[in-house]
Amino acid sequence: MGDSGRPQGKGLRRRDLLVSTGAIAAGAAAAGCEYRTQLYLLGSPPESEVRRPGWSGSSVIARRRLGRTGFDMSDISFGTTKLQDPAVARRAIERGINYFDTAPDYADAASERALGEGIRGTPRDQLFIASKFCTPDGHLDDDTPVPEVMAAVEASLRRLQIDHLDLVHIHAVNSVERLMAPNIHEAFDRLKEQGKVRFLGVSSHTPRLEEVMRHAVDSDRFDVIMVAYNFEHWPKLHGIFHDAHEKDVGVVAMKTLKGAHHTQLAEFTPNERESFAQAAFKWVLANPDVSGLVISIRDFGQIDEYLYASGKAPTASDLALLEKYDGLITRMYCRPGCGACLESCPADVPIDDILRYRMYAENYGQERDAMRAYAKLDPERTAAHCASCSAPCEAACPYEIPIRERLVATHERLRWS
Ligand code: SF4
Ligand code: SF4
Repeated sequence: MGDSGRPQGKGLRRRDLLVSTGAIAAGAAAAGCEYRTQLYLLGSPPESEVRRPGWSGSSVIARRRLGRTGFDMSDISFGTTKLQDPAVARRAIERGINYFDTAPDYADAASERALGEGIRGTPRDQLFIASKFCTPDGHLDDDTPVPEVMAAVEASLRRLQIDHLDLVHIHAVNSVERLMAPNIHEAFDRLKEQGKVRFLGVSSHTPRLEEVMRHAVDSDRFDVIMVAYNFEHWPKLHGIFHDAHEKDVGVVAMKTLKGAHHTQLAEFTPNERESFAQAAFKWVLANPDVSGLVISIRDFGQIDEYLYASGKAPTASDLALLEKYDGLITRMYCRPGCGACLESCPADVPIDDILRYRMYAENYGQERDAMRAYAKLDPERTAAHCASCSAPCEAACPYEIPIRERLVATHERLRWS
């Protein structure tokens, strides 16, 4: 299933992608610079440019209880979507990060392997490791047989070189049916009996997020919820978070940078660009019902930068900066959980998913993962339709996002051929 819980095409699988990758590289070598765009896309993401001497040596200042798990997690924690170097995970541990979020489909399982190397030697009970019901090829369908669901988690354990996960999420949930899929719950129960998992969680950032999270909290089945949450968005989430807190369900925030457009905004000064992530984190952590946040980290500099915000409250200038950002990105940022345009598209294009893949490529430096995700879409539902369309979707978007223009550009950027 796709990130929005919709069925996706299975015509192009991981093997095909690897073949495509090799073919592009080989073709480029043969043709000189003809394919240099693709070669750039296949390269490593750029290093962070933002550095300030004052951030050097930053460490975790605050920890918070992750609900009924009883674990005190670092307020700013490690998302591994971009992790390739185990030394970065080791540095994070030295600086006090003790919660790591990973998944088999991050970098084609390379992130789980790198994390496994990075945590080797650290006493297991000092760390909290979360992964997902998933395979390197993508999310598991709701009706995946129980033994296959269990095998997917056991494969994660092998890659991570550990004997249990502290938390396993049902991943990118966009319907109550998927949230409560009997096979996945039965697999969790059996894995728990075997000591291979400890707690159950749910992650979501897609159109029915509030409904899913409300049901997850009310069901008493979930120990942790991981939710797209950022400044001035999702008014109903505050009530859900409060109820989660009352029921001792842990709340982990993700997508806290609200699209991470800050490095691209010409209207931002260098100082504003550098201060933005810390301001966004402080805003999220000002909510006492949030246990902590997960941010994708790929290099040593980001550990310095991000942990500088640990334990700090937002200032008036932080809030002014977030407000300025909001004004600048309003027609660029596809809001998680919106989905208002989806029904208007005659081709049933998953507009929100594709704009999210664009964000991964453009703002997070995750070009390859974005291309991989785009390639997994049903070929009948890609943005190839948009070039010749009158774009009824645009009238349905309350934020006036120029959807057609952005989808046409995204198709050109992320398609494999
Ligand atoms: S422009 Fe694209 S997304 Fe919008 S309605 Fe047309 S085909 Fe659908
Ligand atoms: S209506 Fe606009 S913000 Fe909402 S999902 Fe569509 S493009 Fe995104």
